[in-house]
Amino acid sequence: MTDLVIVGAGLFGLTIAQQAAENGYSVHIIDKRSHIGGNAYSYFDKETGIEIHQYGAHLFHTSNERVWEYVNRFTSFTNYVHHVYITHNDEVFPMPINLGTINQFFRSAYTPDEAQALIEKQAGEYADVVPQNLNEQGIKLIGKPLYEAFIKNYTAKQWQTDPSQLPASIIRRLPVRFTYNNNYFKDKYEGLPTDGYTAWFERMIDDPNIEVSLNTDFFDDSQPFSKNHLRGNVPIVYTGPIDRYFDYALGTLKWRTVDFKERRFNEVNHLGCPVMNYADTEVPYTRSIEFKNFNPEREKVASQSKTIIWDEYSRFAGKDDDPYYPVNTAEDKEMFAQYKDMEAKEPMTVFGGRLGGYAYYDMHQTINSALTAWSNEVAPLLKK
Ligand code: FAD
Ligand code: UDP
Repeated sequence: MTDLVIVGAGLFGLTIAQQAAENGYSVHIIDKRSHIGGNAYSYFDKETGIEIHQYGAHLFHTSNERVWEYVNRFTSFTNYVHHVYITHNDEVFPMPINLGTINQFFRSAYTPDEAQALIEKQAGEYADVVPQNLNEQGIKLIGKPLYEAFIKNYTAKQWQTDPSQLPASIIRRLPVRFTYNNNYFKDKYEGLPTDGYTAWFERMIDDPNIEVSLNTDFFDDSQPFSKNHLRGNVPIVYTGPIDRYFDYALGTLKWRTVDFKERRFNEVNHLGCPVMNYADTEVPYTRSIEFKNFNPEREKVASQSKTIIWDEYSRFAGKDDDPYYPVNTAEDKEMFAQYKDMEAKEPMTVFGGRLGGYAYYDMHQTINSALTAWSNEVAPLLKK
């Protein structure tokens, strides 16, 4: 029998596997999908050679030195810096909200101080509150007119949940700047894996101590790595949805999923940018991704007269859908806390990752939490 079984070959599972193998343990990873990498998996389109992020655009960024050092063991990164634009009332603005967005929206030429004073005034009664939800946080950050133009309807499409029920942290992901800097992220390090996400992930588990079984579902008793066969017999790291592990005993945690619709054009560039958001309800999707624009350094692929666009349609996830975004209303948080109590009674299973932790983690946060879980929770379970 192997020393450790990992359910899920996403970044959380891969990081734990890599750490365990490096420390001399044998590891078996299973995943119900046909590939490793979880939601960060990508492939190269056969016709065009464009790298497609199968589960939505993935941009790596971090300010965490430990994570940056760790990921650089397995891949180098391009010098890509993420930029997003947003269409509102047939006009295109830079995102996230910055002095360029503000001056274009108000047809003005405010200085940073003038713009900041204006936004504070427009935040009205929310200027001085400690924001309790997305609505309050959004208005406090950018004032009512900009909130209504760029956040309100996009958020309604993305979450279909009253913003007063959503965590304020969702909107704090975006910087607000009173300069013309429109970089989407505010982290120290940023870039895309030079030869693609999947090559990075393959190198993480290129170790004779690691075996991988794909197309293998932890809840399928017809295969030997099922929950019923393993539970209590071997240490398990579980990165699937926490409510599924407990057979939804306390109810179902709410998730959003995304459907992607592809459009192909015989044009060098269709959007002219990597990501275009759509602020208004008339456009039913939240954003469009033009994948080739993530990799301008792949000059042959970038300059050909073919391009691929994916439009993102967000909706609530059913049990058979891929869970992507935890909704995290107060009701969800309470249910999750109760599942955590159940988790405490499973001493041989460590839960983690975006699904196991019901957390809106970016890749660097997933890796960081896996490195911590390895030393604090998983290594102590393994016999020397
Ligand atoms: P996952 O990647 O979800 O992997 C979990 C794995 O477990 C899956 O492969 C799944 O098949 C498997 N599994 C589940 N149940 C079972 C079962 N019963 N049996 C066997 N296997 C099972 N992060 C960034 O840093 N930058 C971005 O730009 C970014 N964009 C994103 C866009 C979208 C649309 C989404 C959804 C996420 C994005 N992320 C981004 C977040 C990033 O995807 C996650 O941080 C990371 O992939 C989480 O890794 P994980 O291992 O926790 O989960
Ligand atoms: N958001 C918005 N308008 C935008 C971009 C983002 O209202 O143009 C809000 C929306 O609620 C979204 C959140 O900010 O869910 C976080 O945006 P981000 O781009 O970080 O989301 P992700 O890339 O994780 O989907």
